[in-house]
Amino acid sequence: MQKSILFLLFILTATFSCTNNISQEKNATEKVENRGANKENWWDKLPRPEWKAFPQIQTNSNWFEIYQITPNIIAIYEPGQFEEVISYLITGTDKALLWDTGTGIGDIKQIVDQLTELPLIVLNSHTHYDHVGGNYQFDNIYGVATDFTKKNAEGRPHEIAKEFITGDWIWKPTPAGFANETYELKPFQITKTIVHQDQIDLGGITLEILHTPGHAPDALCLLDRANRLLFTGDTFYPAPLYAHFDESDVDQYVESANYLAKLIVDVDHILPSHNIPWASSDYLKKMAIAFQQIKRGKAKYTETDGAKEYQFDGFSVITK
Ligand SMILES: [Zn+2]
Repeated sequence: MQKSILFLLFILTATFSCTNNISQEKNATEKVENRGANKENWWDKLPRPEWKAFPQIQTNSNWFEIYQITPNIIAIYEPGQFEEVISYLITGTDKALLWDTGTGIGDIKQIVDQLTELPLIVLNSHTHYDHVGGNYQFDNIYGVATDFTKKNAEGRPHEIAKEFITGDWIWKPTPAGFANETYELKPFQITKTIVHQDQIDLGGITLEILHTPGHAPDALCLLDRANRLLFTGDTFYPAPLYAHFDESDVDQYVESANYLAKLIVDVDHILPSHNIPWASSDYLKKMAIAFQQIKRGKAKYTETDGAKEYQFDGFSVITK
């Protein structure tokens, strides 16, 4: 255990709320139709009961909630903003890896500095805004060499970013020091190019990078074979999967889902980048079957505003 962690108190969250499936489905549709408005108090479903299984680490942050998922994995969760994005700190004996840097609303570096003193690598599950917001704070960032990655590394101006902190996108007060009127996605520098199946040795933990395009061209998963864990980024979480963006590619998503389903023999649990930090690897198989059904035109969908939402057991897929 890191020296700095000794200063932190572990407490268990004791509050629960029932998940309302109907309102969740409604929210999913609204998210397609109208990103940003009329999300009808999506935060009423918080706290999600899945988090109660993990000890919470107390820090001085009023923005992030931080949980110990395994002895080597800490989840850094942002329940105050609609994405409910989760970044993960994975700690070996020699190095630590930060899997995503969140929305940039909270000061994630200040949190990471409290959690580890090891040399740090940042690796993004992909470069959508809610996963790279704190990248600018770090100087050792690994990434794939796609045009999409390069474009997103240029940042996004306030004119675009302001939507994500407006109206029903956000319900918690933003942290001290954060300026709503200037929020932007700051540029960052990829300092090392990585490719599919590259390995990162943190000391005692080896992580294998998997390039799994579909949701985004630079979508990655991160495999910890020894511990039978897979960080799935936005490629899978048990909620509506987004395959409808301009940069999404359903055919690639099908291939990636098939590839990940074969990993089920090596993986027991997945750690998604939104909503909840831990789920069964059974979903990998279910996702592959779902995408095969979509590709063959065998899956039922509802259509809203030009987007199709295919409903499956525990998740859905949204395409154009
Ligand atoms: Zn994304």
